[in-house]
Amino acid sequence: MIVRHTIFQNSLMTALLDGIYDGEMTIGELLGKGNFGIGTFDALDGEMIILDGVCYQLRGDGTATIADLDQGTPFAVATNFVPRIKVEAPQGMLRSELSAFVDEIQPSANYMYAVRISGRFRSVTTRTVVKQSKPYPPMAEAVGGDKELHFTDVEGIIGGFRTPVFEKGISVPGCHVHFIDADRTSGGHVLDYVVDDATIELCPGTDLELRLPLTQEFGQANLAPEDLDHQLHTTEVKN
Ligand SMILES: [Zn+2]
Repeated sequence: MIVRHTIFQNSLMTALLDGIYDGEMTIGELLGKGNFGIGTFDALDGEMIILDGVCYQLRGDGTATIADLDQGTPFAVATNFVPRIKVEAPQGMLRSELSAFVDEIQPSANYMYAVRISGRFRSVTTRTVVKQSKPYPPMAEAVGGDKELHFTDVEGIIGGFRTPVFEKGISVPGCHVHFIDADRTSGGHVLDYVVDDATIELCPGTDLELRLPLTQEFGQANLAPEDLDHQLHTTEVKN
């Protein structure tokens, strides 16, 4: 049985793809919308992960710091995480197998899910966007300079959202997750991983609270690119 639960989102994935990298929402405001989430920072200055109400900034140099409450975010998804479904992940489970596994344990693929995988990973590969300067390039170009990190035998948390395909353009369809290590010293946007010993927790979402930025740039953005599938693949999957 799924109970009503709200997932909050700041701006649109298509706005980010179009180079709208400055928002008008602060981290302080965002934390009022949830204690768990992912996103990015103004000027695309690193990947965001929010865990237990703390917002971490994962930068291209491989560092993780706690973000200032007055920093801005152009795109973020957050919720108050309630682990309603909890299972042990099969050992050796690959990223490519997670979606099928989640399909088995979730009541329906037609809802949104906040996903948290905590424990030990045999490997995690992340990439991190690097701070952009104006005039901002579209995201497909901006990710050309991003940094990949490879973690092996690492403890940490992979957190993010599993989004239904009908939300394509609003968000990233499928699993969009970020990683931070147990010491909270490093992480990024997850490209690949292999589970060693970890717990998967799901929090189903039935309601989407969408906040569109009141900025001139957002008002003039092209939010319906013809090559949306290609852009999503280039920027979020990279393989
Ligand atoms: Zn990401």
